[in-house]
Amino acid sequence: MASGPMIVSTGELLVEFVSHRKGCGLERISEFSGPYPSGAPAIFIDQAARMGAATAFFGTVGNDGFGRGLLKRLEEDGVDTSGILVDDARVTGTAFVSYFEDGSRTFIFHLKDTAAEEVTFSPESLPEGELILHVSAASLGVAKLRTVILEAVDAVLDRGGRISCDPNARPELMRDDAARQALESIVDRSWCLMPSTSDLGFLFPGLDEAAAVERMLSAKAEIIALKRGSEGATLISQGQRYDFPPHHVEELDPTGAGDGFCGTLVGLLAQGIPLEEAGRRANAAGAIAVTRRGPMEGNSSPAEIDALLDRALAEA
Ligand code: ATP
Ligand code: MG
Repeated sequence: MASGPMIVSTGELLVEFVSHRKGCGLERISEFSGPYPSGAPAIFIDQAARMGAATAFFGTVGNDGFGRGLLKRLEEDGVDTSGILVDDARVTGTAFVSYFEDGSRTFIFHLKDTAAEEVTFSPESLPEGELILHVSAASLGVAKLRTVILEAVDAVLDRGGRISCDPNARPELMRDDAARQALESIVDRSWCLMPSTSDLGFLFPGLDEAAAVERMLSAKAEIIALKRGSEGATLISQGQRYDFPPHHVEELDPTGAGDGFCGTLVGLLAQGIPLEEAGRRANAAGAIAVTRRGPMEGNSSPAEIDALLDRALAEA
């Protein structure tokens, strides 16, 4: 039985199809593989569960093969899925992604009128005991999910729980002002903030990295993780700073690395693992994630993380 607070999350559940050919955009014919289980908060919670944390998810899938595949994966990895509804009237959400030679990517999300945005939540459905609620900011771009997430944040804070947040500012999902305001209000109430350095310009226009970190620490945040993609990561907390250099890996599909990083970090912190060790493992989990095709396929086990860390030590 996992010890420590339970980690809960909510938001979009979807399956993703990944193009195998670079440079086609989503306008030319290519080979794709999928359906890969996805949705940023789902990747997060799956990885937190794989780290051994107690986890639960609130979301909705359709009564179809995509939804069954998603549910099966989360269940097998140890997530409490009793808060995931199966909607007979709607199909499971989907997304398509295609990469360009420079590493950039383009998405088409199909969430509107699918089960993905039909999430219901009531504070009474939250599990007993100490809670950490994780918010993946990409979900805030969907109006229905935004309402549910803001209610969940209030409910968890009222109960004395903590909020962790990945303020991933995916432009495709973040077009309106209400999404931005919701994000700001959650960022200001988060205990742990895990932005990508590429998110900082959107979140804190005009501030350099140090100023953005100061700004985050001036609210409620006790832990800041800066995700630097192929440059590694930095953790800052209580006057301490830990820089984790990148592991040298071959990048095949970077989508989901950030969510796997966050799931590892919060999953281990919830079990009382010290910050430096949790950060080292999260940095390794992010590196493993980019080597595998499919956003949740990049999630890893403690043994796989150990193996990468041992290899890096041997090579040093
Ligand atoms: P996404 O939004 O696609 O899930 P992200 O932008 O939130 O990703 P990244 O910074 O790309 O997050 O990746 C998270 C972490 O994974 C990085 O901080 C780093 O530790 C690790 N990582 C990512 N890409 C690489 C890479 N190419 N080589 C080594 N480590 C990587
Ligand atoms: Mg991100």
